[in-house]
Amino acid sequence: MYEQIKLPYETNALEPYVDQLTVETHYGKHHVTYTKTFNELAEKAGLNNLSAEELLASLDKVSDETLKKALKNQGGGYYNHNLYFEMFSPSPSKEPTGKLKEAIDKTFGSLDELKDQLSKAAAGQFGSGWAWLSTDKSGALVVSASPNQDNPISEGTGRIPIIGLDVWEHAYYLKYKNLRPDYIKAFFEILDWGKVSARYDEIVG
Ligand code: MN
Repeated sequence: MYEQIKLPYETNALEPYVDQLTVETHYGKHHVTYTKTFNELAEKAGLNNLSAEELLASLDKVSDETLKKALKNQGGGYYNHNLYFEMFSPSPSKEPTGKLKEAIDKTFGSLDELKDQLSKAAAGQFGSGWAWLSTDKSGALVVSASPNQDNPISEGTGRIPIIGLDVWEHAYYLKYKNLRPDYIKAFFEILDWGKVSARYDEIVG
């Protein structure tokens, strides 16, 4: 059973950056549906013994193209939103720490430069999709973007995302309408770098 994370804050706690109705709809409707459908599909495919990460990394094993595509979409929708909602906090740590701070300084020169690159990847994703900061066991940091609910795992890069910036219109349209760049700025006001740093440490070890 793949479980939707419990929100680690109230639905109105991210105001004014992400409004209550958006959290209620995004987490309470969209994410709920992705989770339910992914569970059904993974069972149908006989792959529900795998973790969501393992499953998304082994989509090549699914020979039925329709089922493969559905697992990529719904499994991505499940996994990506667990990451997205987990990394917010109403009182976020504003700076990365430890190994992640070192890696950001080494790769991007500064946190501001990383934020700039991630913002550009998010703003430049045409249509629905995500921008990512991802890593692997070596600790390398990569900024990328994906369409739909694809992610660095299902794309077969061997990397695992540590930040997922959702730029589907359902993530921002109720409050920001067409102003995706304003939502992207707001995203960084509630992103908890303490949580991102902890996730990086877990992956890099
Ligand atoms: Mn979304």
